[in-house]
Amino acid sequence: MNRIRYDELMREDIARLKEQGRRPRLLLHVCCAPCSTACLELLTDVFDVTCFYCNPNISPQEEYERRLQELDRLLKELPLRARPDLLPCAYEPERFEAIALGLEAEPEGGARCEKCYRLRLEETARAAKAHGYDYFTTTLSVSPYKNAEKLNTIGAALAETWGVRYLFSDFKKRDGYLRSIRLSAEYGLYRQDYCGCVYSKAQAEARQAL
Ligand code: SF4
Repeated sequence: MNRIRYDELMREDIARLKEQGRRPRLLLHVCCAPCSTACLELLTDVFDVTCFYCNPNISPQEEYERRLQELDRLLKELPLRARPDLLPCAYEPERFEAIALGLEAEPEGGARCEKCYRLRLEETARAAKAHGYDYFTTTLSVSPYKNAEKLNTIGAALAETWGVRYLFSDFKKRDGYLRSIRLSAEYGLYRQDYCGCVYSKAQAEARQAL
């Protein structure tokens, strides 16, 4: 089976929008400041971006607040064509706990993660619809640990459900991940050593203890 090249689909969309001279509104789900860096460089060239910080998976709350503060700082410091707005969600860990029930022992990238992607993307699609955005997408595909196929499949299905366009993406491509590492170092960003949930934290601690 031929794999869909999500990065190319995004570049085609971007080229078309540039040709049309349009700047649509994009609600960008952001997991953390480091992952948003390279995505924002690319997207603010074409879209009016709002960063949607909605991550009930992150534990503990201090970590949630720390990642949010770092994102806020980055948005003030990173030179971009247009400064994105920041739309943070209240901290609601019980929403993640409900979908992770029974999947606690899953490895990173497994069934728990798929539900975690869906939870955050669905909230983004819902908010995009409610606030009249033209597109929604997520920074998650910049990470080599995140499955772009799954993310884009979920995004496309939610676009149908909510009636808002999903911007296909695979931000790690064309050295996107490398660029995010470089920008994170340049801006001295806090880079967490675990994905976000309590289970990924325990797995990271177990790895470090080896
Ligand atoms: S490892 Fe990351 S993506 Fe997977 S469930 Fe935990 S926070 Fe979500």
